[in-house]
Amino acid sequence: MHGKEQKKTEIKDLGEFGLIERLTKGFTSKNPNTIKGVGDDAAVIDNGDHLTVVSTDLLIEGIHFDLMYTPLKHLGYKAVVVNLSDIYAMNAIPQQITVSIAVSSRFSVEAIEEIYAGIQAACDFYQVDLVGGDTSSSGKGLLLSVTAIGRGNLDWITYRSGASVGDILCITGDLGAAYIGLQILEREKQIFLSQPGVQPDLEEQSYIIGRQLKPEARRDMVALFHKTNLVPTSMIDVSDGLASDLIQICKQSGLGAYIEETGVPIHPQTQMMAIKFNMDPITCALSGGEDYELLFTISPKDLPRVRLMPDIYIMGEMVKEKEGINLHTKEGKMHPITAQGWLHFE
Ligand code: ADP
Ligand code: MG
Repeated sequence: MHGKEQKKTEIKDLGEFGLIERLTKGFTSKNPNTIKGVGDDAAVIDNGDHLTVVSTDLLIEGIHFDLMYTPLKHLGYKAVVVNLSDIYAMNAIPQQITVSIAVSSRFSVEAIEEIYAGIQAACDFYQVDLVGGDTSSSGKGLLLSVTAIGRGNLDWITYRSGASVGDILCITGDLGAAYIGLQILEREKQIFLSQPGVQPDLEEQSYIIGRQLKPEARRDMVALFHKTNLVPTSMIDVSDGLASDLIQICKQSGLGAYIEETGVPIHPQTQMMAIKFNMDPITCALSGGEDYELLFTISPKDLPRVRLMPDIYIMGEMVKEKEGINLHTKEGKMHPITAQGWLHFE
């Protein structure tokens, strides 16, 4: 080849977040009503008397789900829920969705209807309207993309970037269950492939498997925030894992943080199964992902009332950036928290 050879960068060298940053850095907003573009759980658009909040996600067969153990109805339900979760993470209320789907000829109409039964169940439960989408054939496999549109207002909208030193770090629900649920489903798949006909008994693991196959978004928490007039100073939904999502809050708020290992809520089934898999439960909570819980910070003045709110756990505190992001372990050691995004480029 003549001339200067163009340098090729491998996607894995940048990582998911690095790639997004590189692709979008040349774009500046042209419309003054675009108040938040790339970089949060959802984009925010100013409509004068209210805000519109928009988020999109893409689910690909073989990458994000495996149809060997994912019922189609659950897949439809989950595709909607993961998007609504991003709208709630802005402290806003989802109202509409659009759904785009690409299917290969391997799927029957009845199979696609099953996916839509799940989408409808989520629309009914979360009170959102399906208002459009797109349909295409695909060469191989199933692709599903959902866009959620929500409504918010300037007094309540919550970004990843709003935390201050001394703010208290809180988490809803419990962490690590969806990840352990996935490990069980993967193990059962391997057993089934080697010994077809063996039916697993998953009764004891129903909670953690449910967390993987049928997650819920924390609509109840956002309703509680609104009812009690509590406005978190920053918020993100835990989709990539506590470590990665905490790092996003820290980066965007220009701060460090510490969390107490004893303050990280982990369900007893998660604890038990993690140990059976020879994993440390706290590692599952930190790196697992797909929990769809809300990680948020509050001003210390709100601590007395948040302490009494159901299903919210106090985990730690925001500190200066130079103090880093650390886990204060049960043994009393400070352990730096590091993480990468959920990378699918290997
Ligand atoms: P989340 O985990 O909350 O869904 P992501 O990590 O997927 O958020 O995305 C982070 C931010 O990057 C979001 O603001 C999202 O809209 C934006 N983003 C992701 N991929 C692209 C892309 N290909 N082009 C433009 N923006 C993107
Ligand atoms: Mg999110």
